[in-house]
Amino acid sequence: MKVAVVGAGAMGSLFGAMLAEAGNEVWLYDVWLEHVQTINRDGLRIEREGKTRTVEIRATADSQQIGRAELVIIFVKSSWTNSAAETALNLAGSDGSVMTLQNGMGNADVIAEFIEPERILAGTTSHGATLLGPGSIRHAGCGPTTIGAWSQTEGGLRRAGQFAEFFNRAGIKTESVADVRSVVWNKLLINIGINAITALTNIKNGQIIDLEITRELIRNAVAEAINVARAENIEVQDDAVDRVFKVAEATALNRSSMGQDVDSRRQTEIAAINGFIVREAKRLGLEAPVNLALTALIQTLEYHYS
Ligand code: NAD
Repeated sequence: MKVAVVGAGAMGSLFGAMLAEAGNEVWLYDVWLEHVQTINRDGLRIEREGKTRTVEIRATADSQQIGRAELVIIFVKSSWTNSAAETALNLAGSDGSVMTLQNGMGNADVIAEFIEPERILAGTTSHGATLLGPGSIRHAGCGPTTIGAWSQTEGGLRRAGQFAEFFNRAGIKTESVADVRSVVWNKLLINIGINAITALTNIKNGQIIDLEITRELIRNAVAEAINVARAENIEVQDDAVDRVFKVAEATALNRSSMGQDVDSRRQTEIAAINGFIVREAKRLGLEAPVNLALTALIQTLEYHYS
């Protein structure tokens, strides 16, 4: 199968490499020229549990070089989904599928402004990766991937099943589900509980459970999000707050992705996480003061990066 990855940073490079190693024709497309040139010259270096392998894979900063792809995977940070979706439209042509496994909510809806919903697959992944430098990533953790059709039509569901099989054949353990919206929502609830709070307080994931007052903040932020989800008829798990604490414990020594973004003075995905809850609450006539405060604080921090 011919696959194009739009946004070949940590995760895009990882998924692209795993699919290429399974014998598919994979193209990495990224606007970061030095990264693209390094991959084409030296291959993509992937560090995993102390060992490094090099994967031969095509990379380009000119999406026209790729031609048409049967599957386009968008792996930019959510602030750039709009421009990535425009590129994906050209790559997918009239029949290709477009997949997002990005964090946050709203990415699939942005893609749906360019591509018919029936051709959009969304989902989540528990793989973790970090960019080490141009042409070099660390595969930090393995875990299941869940995908589903954004449109929930029969055609969409069939595509989702086929692509889950395709990923499994490449060693990416994947399940296809009918109700992918609730899967993306349930991951959003975890990010709502962990990301902004760790980013603002400069702590590691495990430290969010040390103090009762922090746990209360998390309970309130997640409760506001659950209200929005239920108003949108999304099935969310009752134990969402417990799951936030469990994930925090399981990843105790990690710095959240938003924490890493703030540490490196990069734009965060706040608008697609807590900011999404603020916008949706407003639209639905609900209150979300905790998520508003977290969003405002992160955006203030971003504005004043020196
Ligand atoms: P990243 O910053 O490592 O990679 C993003 C890449 O997109 C960069 O290389 C950047 O140059 C490129 N880019 C930006 N605008 C572009 C455009 N218009 N066209 C093409 N390329 C463009 O980010 P990441 O960590 O790989 O995360 C990508 C997404 O996956 C995010 O939504 C993130 O939340 C999600 N995610 C990340 C992890 C993880 O462990 N890193 C795990 C699960 C989900």
